[in-house]
Amino acid sequence: MTSALPSSDERRAELAEGLTEVRARIAAACAAAGRDTGEVTLIAVTKTFPASDVRLLAGLGLTDVGENRDQEARPKAAACADLPLTWHFVGRLQTNKARAVAGYADVVHSVDRSRLVTALSEAAGRTGRTLRCLVQVSLDEDVPQEGPGRGGAAPSDVPRLADEIAGAANLEFGGLMAVAPLGADPRPAFARLAEVAVGIRRAHPSATVLSAGMSGDLEQAVACGATHLRVGTALLGGRRAIVR
Ligand SMILES: *Cc1c(COP(=O)(O)O)cnc(C)c1O
Repeated sequence: MTSALPSSDERRAELAEGLTEVRARIAAACAAAGRDTGEVTLIAVTKTFPASDVRLLAGLGLTDVGENRDQEARPKAAACADLPLTWHFVGRLQTNKARAVAGYADVVHSVDRSRLVTALSEAAGRTGRTLRCLVQVSLDEDVPQEGPGRGGAAPSDVPRLADEIAGAANLEFGGLMAVAPLGADPRPAFARLAEVAVGIRRAHPSATVLSAGMSGDLEQAVACGATHLRVGTALLGGRRAIVR
């Protein structure tokens, strides 16, 4: 940042305000949807923000943190290893990073291909821990799979990937994740996600996680049954470089 950094007290106050606002939005969205706020976990997406912010958020009672790049997440998680946090990896993941990510992540939200299932299974085996994995569902119907889209498996591939995760050593299948298409009404996309989730839960009753909803669309996600919201900007403020 070019301007003077805020003092830790100032930053704590800013984050507390963000947290209060986001929690109020979640409570209102839950009330509108007839849901209990206890059904919804808030994940603070701390990408581009320093480990000191993660520490302040933990002090404010936040329990779940999300990151989207291994390069950035790894040192941050190491700097916060003393905190009782659950780490979520929410970004596109290359197979050659699986091993590193399995070293600190508790949940990987972005599993979208078989090779990644294999890589994460092997990597988790090395750490001796069980890694929870979500299948990322592509809701951009028009964006080609391997193009510059934001990742995700086609809805028709999701059942197969779910079975592969459930059958893989050292992995646990937790449910589904999605990012709503940019610049469009998120409701049809989230409704589609909820529909895919119904089929998946029939085959995997314990895979109840539905990770959907960010700063701009958390209300619509809660209305469609999201259990995990990934919120960055609304909690932490604007990022310098927005990488989606
Ligand atoms: C950055 C990011 C978020 C948070 O986005 P905001 O709009 O800042 O809340 C959520 N999910 C993923 C996958 C992200 O990369």
